[in-house]
Amino acid sequence: MLHLREPEQMREWSRSQRHSGSTIALVPTMGALHDGHLSLVSLAAEHADRVVVSLFVNPAQFGEGEDLASYPRDRERDVRLLSDLPVDVLFLPVESDLYPEDYSTWVEETSISRLWEGAARPEHFRGVTTIVTRLLLAVEPDLLILGQKDAQQVAVVRKMMRDLLIPAEVVTGPIVRESDGLALSSRNVYLSEDERGQAVCLSEALAEARRLVSGGEGDPAVVLQRMRERVGQEPDARLDYVAALDPLTFDPVDTLRGNILFCLAVHIGETRLIDNDIIDAEA
Ligand code: AMP
Repeated sequence: MLHLREPEQMREWSRSQRHSGSTIALVPTMGALHDGHLSLVSLAAEHADRVVVSLFVNPAQFGEGEDLASYPRDRERDVRLLSDLPVDVLFLPVESDLYPEDYSTWVEETSISRLWEGAARPEHFRGVTTIVTRLLLAVEPDLLILGQKDAQQVAVVRKMMRDLLIPAEVVTGPIVRESDGLALSSRNVYLSEDERGQAVCLSEALAEARRLVSGGEGDPAVVLQRMRERVGQEPDARLDYVAALDPLTFDPVDTLRGNILFCLAVHIGETRLIDNDIIDAEA
């Protein structure tokens, strides 16, 4: 596994690979790797000849008062985990390469990025689309591998790539979960033991939604109310939002028909967690 730091070195490597006929998949991460990230690496290797994993804690996607300073960082452990996997390049840019002092250009999607996560975290998606564009320009991959865990991020990045005519294809991997259903997240380490127990309310609220929908419930308001009630059972849980959405536009639906994206964001104590599930509501 080659370690590259400079965007120019990265691009040179990619071009030489492409020249010899290889396809390249990029898996962007902020490190603090868990099995969710590792599943995306395996997915990348299934779809492309070469796999590049980037590791960069992107300051631009953290809002004021968010956890940039405390975000878990363990480079040695990340490298160890990746060295067991089919990774060709670990791309490790440093902040001064990606955001030099005079940096002044932003990439912003202005529709989907304003809703839900974007409403709760202004500027978050602008930071995401800017860094993803820069990574795409440095790596020039054929495939961009993203996790469905961040469903709205996938939609915003897809839209940004389509609008800017960026030719890479987006491939998404399913959400990897703990045995009790909690979605893996680098932020789960912030949870105390007691909070960790309560955090299962997100996936259980989604499971409740699935039960109701497969039982024939057609009114999203009924399902969302039950999800709120499940979250409300936990003493330290504070619901940020819960929604039943069209998975492409992220607009709320008024009837449950076809594929519906149920998503929610919940503070458990000081930790903000998100989760989602696409549920097929038979017409
Ligand atoms: P992050 O390091 O949090 O920026 O995440 C890097 C990538 O891993 C993103 O595409 C995430 O959607 C994805 N990811 C995060 N958690 C999970 C999970 N539990 N299962 C699958 N993919 C995930």
